[in-house]
Amino acid sequence: MDLDVKNISKSYGRVTALNDLSLTIPAGSLTCFLGPSGCGKTTLLRVIAGLETPERGQIMLGDDDLSDTAPSDRNFGVVFQSYSLFPNLTALRNVQYGLECRGWGRTRRRERAEEMLDLVHLRDQANKLPEQMSGGQQQRIAIARALAPEPSLLLLDEPLSALDAKVRAELRSEIRSIQQKFGITTIMVTHDQNEALEMADQIVVLREGQIEQVGAPRDLYTHPETRFVADFIGAINLLNVTSDAQGKAQLGTHSLAMTGKLNGATTLGLRPEAITLSQQPIGAANELSGVVTQTRFMGNLQHIEIQPDCAPEQRLQIEMNGLATTPASGARVVASFPADALMVLR
Ligand code: ATP
Repeated sequence: MDLDVKNISKSYGRVTALNDLSLTIPAGSLTCFLGPSGCGKTTLLRVIAGLETPERGQIMLGDDDLSDTAPSDRNFGVVFQSYSLFPNLTALRNVQYGLECRGWGRTRRRERAEEMLDLVHLRDQANKLPEQMSGGQQQRIAIARALAPEPSLLLLDEPLSALDAKVRAELRSEIRSIQQKFGITTIMVTHDQNEALEMADQIVVLREGQIEQVGAPRDLYTHPETRFVADFIGAINLLNVTSDAQGKAQLGTHSLAMTGKLNGATTLGLRPEAITLSQQPIGAANELSGVVTQTRFMGNLQHIEIQPDCAPEQRLQIEMNGLATTPASGARVVASFPADALMVLR
């Protein structure tokens, strides 16, 4: 069943954390709430969980209005950033805990908990206490515990942010494959755009308590509607342009070929990897001559910065394969890109 968030508003004193926010979380999807610190991600998750009461709005699961349902009766599994396991209970007892509260019998409880430990590959740790396990293992136990009672919704609040990079990467793909295997509707809060791009079916970008844009990762990356989304997801060149007499975009003294219409916008987005660098023109729709001002070698990639002749006050960041020959600083080059690489941003 889809989860519908309808016209939710929530304030803390004079701070408006959520402002008339509406959203659908499709059944079986993994949705990420993404945005900068303070934009309202956690508040929205907590309102859905029933841990915060909004001033206005409803939370609907299918046709059921959950607005007045206590958190414990919503049958949602929740995992927080700080593993929050019971320190005095073994891994197995931690996973069984929610089942005990729901009145599952002893044998069924044990079987289910063991099945969940298998799922997160920690059956052999069943009798360990949380303090005897690594952070990644504790978070796996927390996930097993949240999934054990077969929740209708899984809520993850920055579940990976306390872990080191390697464990994080492992758990990203593990959470995603468990979520897909069971088709469990999942919401994950993160401020890490890569995490959202890699894991989500749907990303909700939040800004100051409102939705800035919702879409599949690829759509948000290739068709950001605003400067904020373009800048928040991935690296981007933000070009300040003016409109010529025909309404076409001008970058300094150069007319740009583009597929979209400016419609009063003054910013165009251009992804660094959409630009090709060469010594001579290659016959692309847009070709800007310029000078290399900086090069940075990153291993698999290299970042080249150029100053275009047509707009010397601006800089273009270009991303090239790490194996390509690096142009020298000060070299004259041509930066080429197709018309549809330019994105009109509000
Ligand atoms: P972060 O990534 O830093 O966790 P967030 O996007 O999750 O941020 P929220 O924690 O939802 O943001 O906070 C949204 C706004 O509400 C912020 O301005 C925050 O200061 C405020 N806020 C959140 N919880 C409370 C609270 N319990 N009391 C007062 N203000 C709060």
